[in-house]
Amino acid sequence: MSEFIAPAKPIIGDEERAAVDRVMRSGMVAQGPEVAAFEQEFADQMVAGRRCVAVSSGTAGLHLGLLAAGIGPGDEVIVPSFTFAATGNSVALTGATPVFVDIEPDTFNLSPAAASAAITDRTRAIMPVHLYGHPFDAPAFQALAAEHDLQLFEDAAQAHGASLGGQKVGTFGTFAMFSLYPTKNMTSGEGGMVSCASDDIARQVRLLRNQGMEKQYANEVIGFNTRMTDIHAAIGRVQLTKVGAWTEQRRANAAFLDAGLAEVAGVTPPPVRAGAEHVYHQYTIRLDGASGVERDAFVAALKAEHNVGAGVYYPIPNHRLASLEKYAPDLDLPQTERAAREVVSLPVHPSLTQADLERIVSAVAAVAKAGA
Ligand SMILES: *Cc1c(COP(=O)(O)O)cnc(C)c1O
Repeated sequence: MSEFIAPAKPIIGDEERAAVDRVMRSGMVAQGPEVAAFEQEFADQMVAGRRCVAVSSGTAGLHLGLLAAGIGPGDEVIVPSFTFAATGNSVALTGATPVFVDIEPDTFNLSPAAASAAITDRTRAIMPVHLYGHPFDAPAFQALAAEHDLQLFEDAAQAHGASLGGQKVGTFGTFAMFSLYPTKNMTSGEGGMVSCASDDIARQVRLLRNQGMEKQYANEVIGFNTRMTDIHAAIGRVQLTKVGAWTEQRRANAAFLDAGLAEVAGVTPPPVRAGAEHVYHQYTIRLDGASGVERDAFVAALKAEHNVGAGVYYPIPNHRLASLEKYAPDLDLPQTERAAREVVSLPVHPSLTQADLERIVSAVAAVAKAGA
């Protein structure tokens, strides 16, 4: 059988290795000048110069952003259930309550209408996710936030460089978080970048990541150690010079898959919102349950019969996880449940060859036709 096509593939090159070596030789490996340079370069390239603060992970970025924005016990924050658990976890870690809300029926992003219906007098903020690298309906959420005096936060973990109406994701809310985990569109090994709407939020995030100190031993607030190291920042700086070309390749790969899958019965290629630049962290199709194509059997057949790897993000809605279900007794989110049953993410990463792409299309068509 042909070689296995992996669903994701981090790319680490000689330049990244050389950058790590440079920092190691300097003898200064903890947070220092590399982190400061990475923050400035990321700000200029990704979020139109907004203040950026680097932290040890995306999850830490969400947690610190929420705390910096004043979220805590007694508050409610509206989040999707159809996402990685870090979204709801970070809200719960502040002592606030994650309020899980349904997604739009066509895209996989949080529904502004459903969010509106979930607002109570305890709601302080809405934190949608630019899921799979596809921008959520930011103008609708900004309007909703303005109308109800709420804050908007962006989980942009998967959406480096995406935009809507010409505006970059990461510039719509009080803060936004980009993950730098190896499977994301760019990596620093582990890490997160927080884009901040104001000097005050940026300063609070900086304090919280470093024991509450700006000046040594003048601790102003109770904080964490969630600093990024210069070793990680050096990797991230190199990746920043490459991610633009990788994103173009992801988009080209997605366009090929779109064209190849357009006529395949039972398969819906990923929708793109008007005015959106999707960065295809994932290329996620929907299998039409009514056509008799069963998702788990479909994924198994792609692997067994065609050696094509595929992922399911996410099979269990967050409000049904053992860790988070206490926040959502008796909640019914029909679009979330349907997506959790129907989604399949096909390989779209920049290392795919033309032959790989052709194999993916023919494998999906063959398995769909067989009604796996
Ligand atoms: C990856 C991810 C996170 C968490 O980022 P880490 O860097 O892994 O901590 C949060 N939200 C979403 C949607 C993610 O995909």
